Amino acid sequence: MPKTVVKKRAPRTKSKADIARTIEMMTEQYGPFDQEPRLPPTDEMVFTILSQHTSDINSSRAYRLLMDRFVTLEAVASGETSEVEKAIAPGGLAKIKAPRIKAVLNRILELNGSLDLSFLREMPLADAKAWLRQLPGIGPKSAGIVLSFSLGMPAMAIDTHIYRVSQRLGVIGPKVSADKAHDILEEKVDPEEVFNFHVSYINHGRQVCRAQRPLCPECVVGALCPSRKKFMSKADLAALAEQEDQTPAGTAGAPMPHVPQPETQ
Ligand code: SF4
Repeated sequence: MPKTVVKKRAPRTKSKADIARTIEMMTEQYGPFDQEPRLPPTDEMVFTILSQHTSDINSSRAYRLLMDRFVTLEAVASGETSEVEKAIAPGGLAKIKAPRIKAVLNRILELNGSLDLSFLREMPLADAKAWLRQLPGIGPKSAGIVLSFSLGMPAMAIDTHIYRVSQRLGVIGPKVSADKAHDILEEKVDPEEVFNFHVSYINHGRQVCRAQRPLCPECVVGALCPSRKKFMSKADLAALAEQEDQTPAGTAGAPMPHVPQPETQ
């Protein structure tokens, strides 16, 4: 008899409504967040390149030193690569970042005739992303940062924290690449909520759902997370189950699941 081949079903990912609930719970926990434009779009692009593989402090310092030395990005575009390299050296990886910054700026000038990228705001999101993606070395994350943080557009910018939390929560499938996750999440998250999604998931990834030893017993979205079983001891899981049984879901004024409560004196 021919063998029956049983195909494994891909794990179910979270619905739009469930994702909206996680954003709401995390925003309650870590927010509210202000969406203030940070830098003009081309400056944001340069800042993004400077921030690759370095801390926020180092990239801010490198950006400031670059602008102190050159004053305008047009001057950076036409400046000597070695001079750009010297200016941004305190930010690290200057030998790689200096030619990258110059290549991006010069390509923008070639395509647009100026370094003003504010026209992107008037374009549909997919076109604006495609425009930025044609620049050398600009992937979906860098494009998302420029569109979201500088131009206030509902673009995803998936960093390592957002990617990890999304996978653990089952917001995206386990085999989805970070690049592909951008398109999937733009479909699944309400455009009005993209900024809150971004900031709340980053906060959650940094503070609770860390790469090593996530703090599942303290997790505000633990009840919705299919991964917590992997990270928690049986005793902790049993204690949580008991706590959840005693806390009717949706009870007005009830403590949020898994948020440590202040100790009573
Ligand atoms: S329960 Fe644990 S793995 Fe799941 S989101 Fe929370 S911290 Fe991360």
